[in-house]
Amino acid sequence: MPPPADESVERMEFMLSLRRRGISDQLVLRAMDEVPREHFVERAQADAAYADHALPICCGQTISQPYVVAYMTEQLAVKPQHRVLEIGTGSGYQAAVLSRLAREVISIERYRTLAEIARIRFKTLGYQNIEVVVGDGFKGVPERAPYDRIIVTAAAEAIPDALVAQLADGGTMILPLGPHGGAQDLVKLTKTKEGLKRDNLIAVRFVPLLPGQAREL
Ligand code: SAH
Repeated sequence: MPPPADESVERMEFMLSLRRRGISDQLVLRAMDEVPREHFVERAQADAAYADHALPICCGQTISQPYVVAYMTEQLAVKPQHRVLEIGTGSGYQAAVLSRLAREVISIERYRTLAEIARIRFKTLGYQNIEVVVGDGFKGVPERAPYDRIIVTAAAEAIPDALVAQLADGGTMILPLGPHGGAQDLVKLTKTKEGLKRDNLIAVRFVPLLPGQAREL
C-alpha cells in the first residue's frame, strides 16, 4: 500500500490531538473530522489549517483554535433537534461544525465581508442549515428566538442581557467572559427556573465582542 498523502497524515494527527486533549464525544469528533478546515483559512495559511492554533482571517479577526472549537462544541451538548445561535461568524468554521450536529444554526457577524465570504463557503460545501445575519450580536437575532443553544465566539466583558432573553428555558449558552485582551474564562450558563446557573470552564483568549455593525468592510 502506498504511504498516505501528507494531508491525510496531518488530518489523522489533528483528530488524534483532539482526542488526546480530552475531546471524547464521538459526534463532535465526527463533525470535526467532516468539516474541511482548509476551506475556512486564508489561502496563504492553508498549510497551517490543521495545526492546533488560531489563525488570522480578514478584518483583523481570527479563526479559533481547533481544540477550543471542539471543546466549546462538546460543552454545548447540541442535539439534532436544536436551533443554535452563534455570535461572531468569522470564518464560519465553528458554525459549520455546529451545523453537522444541530437542526439549524443562525450566525451573526458585524463585518459584512466576513458574513458574505462565510455564506459562499457554506454554499460551496453544501451546508444548507446555516443562516448568516449581518448585525450586532449584542442584540442577538430576536425574530428567530428562542434558541436551545447560544455560543458567543468573541469575548464579552459582561453577560449580554439580550442573549439571555433569547435563550430557551433549560437552554445553555457558552461565552468567553473577561477583559478585552486579558485573561478570560469560558463560561457556561444554563437557564433554569431558579435563574442562571453558571459554571466556569477553561481560560481562553478571544478577540473582543464589539458593539454595533462594523462601519467598513
Ligand atoms: N466563530 C469564528 C471565530 C470568529 S472571531 C470562527 O469559527 O471563525 C470573532 C468574530 O466575532 C469576529 O469575526 C468579529 O468580527 C465578530 N464579532 C465581534 N463582535 C461582534 C458583535 N457585536 N456582533 C457580531 N459579531 C461580532
